[in-house]
Amino acid sequence: MKQCTHADALPHPEPVPLSETCTECLALGTHPVQLRLCLTCGHVGCCDSSPGQHATGHHKDSGHPVMRTFEPGESWRWCFVDHVLV
Ligand SMILES: [Zn+2]
Ligand SMILES: [Zn+2]
Ligand SMILES: [Zn+2]
Repeated sequence: MKQCTHADALPHPEPVPLSETCTECLALGTHPVQLRLCLTCGHVGCCDSSPGQHATGHHKDSGHPVMRTFEPGESWRWCFVDHVLV
């Protein structure tokens, strides 16, 4: 199994969310299905089931490796580089 080294390098405490929803969706008038929080900078983007896939877009633009779910009651984290839960 592949080991992720990115999770250990994340800032502590985790960044404050920059917004309450996906601001790109807000600007475009599209609706996020679920939200993801970037654990490097606090960017909030929508998941891959959403029309814009802005969390993935943020990773591609910024190179920030790890996001976590921004949904109440969920706590998993995902590394975009290694494609593993961390
Ligand atoms: Zn990783
Ligand atoms: Zn979005
Ligand atoms: Zn980020």
